[in-house]
Amino acid sequence: MSTTLLHQSFGIRDYRQTRIEFTGGVTRFHVEPSEKKVCCPMCGSRNVIRRGFKRREFQASPIGLRQTVVAAALPRVQCHDCGTTR
Ligand SMILES: [Zn+2]
Repeated sequence: MSTTLLHQSFGIRDYRQTRIEFTGGVTRFHVEPSEKKVCCPMCGSRNVIRRGFKRREFQASPIGLRQTVVAAALPRVQCHDCGTTR
């Protein structure tokens, strides 16, 4: 599980894996961020409220011959300090 890739792509370090799916030669990792680590992507404030999730899928390096997809639940947050919604 490439948490480095997730970190580089989304700036969120601590994802936990919720489940793994095997369908038609594709391995799909479902991940979501650890609750405590949600903070504002712009100013880093933790004074944020959750606005639900947005689902993103992206290709990861194949494991053996199997195609690998990471399905990440990205939190949408609104920041009280700088006003960012993301
Ligand atoms: Zn902010």
